[in-house]
This record gives sequence, C-alpha cells and structure tokens, in this order.
Amino acid sequence: MLMQIRGVRKSFQDNTVLRDVNMDLDRGDVVVILGPSGSGKTTFLRCLNFLEQADAGSMELDGVKLDLSKASSKEIAGVRKKTAFVFQNYNLFANKTALENVTLGLTAGRGMGKDEAREIGLRALRKVGLAERADYYPAQLSGGQQQRVGIARAIAVRPDVVLFDEPTSALDPELVGEVLQVMRSLAEEGMTMIVVTHEMKFARDVASHVIFMADGVVVEEGTSEEFFTNPQQERTKKFLKRIL
Ligand code: ADP
Repeated sequence: MLMQIRGVRKSFQDNTVLRDVNMDLDRGDVVVILGPSGSGKTTFLRCLNFLEQADAGSMELDGVKLDLSKASSKEIAGVRKKTAFVFQNYNLFANKTALENVTLGLTAGRGMGKDEAREIGLRALRKVGLAERADYYPAQLSGGQQQRVGIARAIAVRPDVVLFDEPTSALDPELVGEVLQVMRSLAEEGMTMIVVTHEMKFARDVASHVIFMADGVVVEEGTSEEFFTNPQQERTKKFLKRIL
C-alpha cells in the first residue's frame, strides 16, 4: 500500500466539512473523487498536502506514518517531496516562463543544478506536448496550455502521487480535452493519481477506483466498473442519474 489515510476530520469554524474520511491507494492507482459541490472533496485533497491542516487524521505514505493534524515541518516537507499538486487555477508564476515554472521546484525546491533541471523540465514539457512553448510566459498560453504546464511542473519532481484538484473546471469547454488527454496518458504510464473532478467520462474510462463523497463522508466507493454500473447507495444512484 502506497498511501493509507484514516479518520480525516476538518471544520471551518462551525462548518464541519470532513467527518471521518478514509482512503487507500496502491501504486499505479487512479482514484477519482466525485460528489456534489461543497461535499469536501477539495478540502480533503488539500489536507493530504497540508495546504489545509486537518483537525484529525493520519496518513501513512510509502511506509512513513504521520498525524495530519500535527505534523512537524520536517514531516510536511517529506510529504511534499513525494506528492505534487495540480491546482484548479494553475497557480503559475506570471513573470516566469513555462520552463522556469517547471524547473523552480527542482532548483529552488530541491537544490538541483540549473542544467539538469532544464533537461528534466524540457522532458516534462515534452510529455505534456509543450516543449516548443518552453520560453512562453503564462499570459501567452491558453488556459489548457497553462494547465499542462501545471501538470509538467507536478511530474517534473517525480512524485509518488499527483493530486489533481478539479484541473479542468476553470477551462473553456474546448480546452478541457487536451488536459484530460495528458492526464490519461500519465495514467496509462502508471502514474499514481488522486483526481477531484466532475468529468464523468474521464472517471469512467480512467479511474481504477471511484470515491463518492457527500456532506463530508465517503458514501460509496468501488472500482470504476462497480461504481458506474452497479451503485449500491441511494445517494449515489441519484447523483449518477442527475449527471449521466
Ligand atoms: P467540494 O470540493 O466538494 O466542492 P470544498 O472542499 O471546496 O467542497 O468545500 C467544502 C465546504 O468547506 C464548503 O462549505 C466550503 O464553503 C467550505 N470551505 C472550503 N474552504 C474553506 C475555507 N478556506 N474557509 C472556510 N470555509 C471553507
């Protein structure tokens, strides 16, 4: 087991967002988290990378166990080394080129030399089909291209797990496909991924497991096949009926 998450809880003031969330992940798994807006999917993902601090919960990642509510900065750095986050709004530095955005985590983040970082960065950009845009600034790229840079940045550090937070939801519809295509090919190469998304076709085709969340709990989980063809819970059935 690459990652084991147990008992994640999180409230914002009196708003309880995560009640007791568990998740298991093996290497090569693509877990898609589905659920209505406001059910806590993004918050859960952010807790795994300490972008939010959980109120309770534990994580075991690659044999290292820690408390999500009180991890030390050393433990947090350890998790961030093994995970990478793809943001809904790309989070690129506007004053840095595509390549600089990708290599920053290698040079500043990991102390890698400039030349080696450049080589790895270009390889990552090639993987997302953007090698020829390496010297462009974010404003010179489409939203889909910017998000592909965001994905290149995530994979350049060779993480064990990539966390995708609604990676296509800020995109114009005609740009969604190119980003999903890149994610598909990463999945096919065996990248371990947790993906919060509303893209049902992607979930159906690419997910090894689906987790359905509502009101801060996991209502149902199963293989993609089980989930879409034979959902067990009323809540899941209603959700699928509305969305498919
Ligand atoms: P989902 O990803 O399923 O749409 P979110 O995790 O984004 O759900 O949000 C779950 C709930 O947590 C929502 O009610 C949202 O308003 C609240 N929430 C999320 N982030 C914050 C925050 N930083 N401060 C206060 N409330 C938040």
